Amino acid sequence: MKITKDIWVLGDYRNYFQSRVTLQILARASDLSKKTGGRVCAVLFGHDLDEYVNEYIAHGARTVYVMDDPALKEYSVETYSFLLAGLAREMKPEILLVGATRFGQEIGPRVAKQLETGLTADCIDLSIDEKGRLVQTAPSFGGNLMAKIITPEKRPQMATIRPGTFQELVHDNDAAGKIIRLPLPENLPGPRIRCIRSEYKPARNKKLEEADIVITGGRGMGSRRKFQRLFELAGLLHAEVGATRPVVYADWVSHDALVGQAGKNIRPKVLFAFGVSGAIQHTAAVTDSDFIVAVNKNPESTMMKMADVAIVADAGQVCSGMIRMLKEKIRE
Ligand SMILES: Cc1cc2nc3c(=O)[nH]c(=O)nc-3n(C[C@H](O)[C@H](O)[C@H](O)COP(=O)(O)OP(=O)(O)OC[C@H]3O[C@@H](n4cnc5c(N)ncnc54)[C@H](O)[C@@H]3O)c2cc1C
Repeated sequence: MKITKDIWVLGDYRNYFQSRVTLQILARASDLSKKTGGRVCAVLFGHDLDEYVNEYIAHGARTVYVMDDPALKEYSVETYSFLLAGLAREMKPEILLVGATRFGQEIGPRVAKQLETGLTADCIDLSIDEKGRLVQTAPSFGGNLMAKIITPEKRPQMATIRPGTFQELVHDNDAAGKIIRLPLPENLPGPRIRCIRSEYKPARNKKLEEADIVITGGRGMGSRRKFQRLFELAGLLHAEVGATRPVVYADWVSHDALVGQAGKNIRPKVLFAFGVSGAIQHTAAVTDSDFIVAVNKNPESTMMKMADVAIVADAGQVCSGMIRMLKEKIRE
């Protein structure tokens, strides 16, 4: 089969609301495609992906190749690389772009190796030269030089792109795109690495002690799984997550999130406390917060009495409701 002129972008949807790198790359790919004449395609693997598929179409993908299967729910670098390399071998895109996130940095080089092509890592610009080749600009020699790199012969031309390099397109609800659902290949090898447990660890731009917005979770969050949703909310609010001692002891979150006498003192502008009773060993470390919103089933709890806004409700439900609302707001 002939090489197509298509530009492929690997869908990096983990940590989606903190890292918009796929949308940023789709925007630049749309520009590049005006010169190359090919289609902009997103490619993604996983399970329950419709939300992302539609989002990619609204942000410039004209075709989305999607392999959506329960077997792909757990991320596996070997499996995902195998699948991406297999599809690229079969459908022959001209260009294959990946975000330079941990995910992309793992997958990109593996796929390049399997396809026996070149890859420029951590690009900060992309353009098309007069011969229609991808010019990949990447810092070199410790950032002192900008190298412009081309891949003259091998295809696809591959690059990983530093997050934040390009501006994403405005969300277009009316954008039309073709969704191509692909079955799992029969020769999919079993994973050699088995994931026993995964934990979401947010990038700590600010320390908990310095954050303007902190979300603390207590035993009232109910379970480790529900507690993890606080990280999603924190991503949307640009907040940090703290916890009470029982939560840390239950291993729902790591010890560095502990707020209180045995942990950290915080002084945020806004503190959201979900399912926290307000024992003195905890509240002594949060009294300098400017504004407190507490969610608790028990209106008589100390935390609720300390709060500027006290919401008598199920903590998990309020957390989910806020996530839903904020996501809708972002899409508007
Ligand atoms: C020496 C010492 C040091 C300590 N140091 C610390 C420390 O540094 N930090 C710390 O946090 N603790 C510390 N503690 C423990 C502290 O005394 C409390 O036990 C702890 O803070 C209580 O945590 P919690 O609020 O998560 O749990 P709980 O006290 O069990 O409170 C859970 C709250 O969730 C509410 N709730 C239940 N279900 C729901 C629901 N579905 N929706 C909404 N709300 C719900 C309940 O009404 C309750 O108010 C220390 C204790 C000692 C003895």
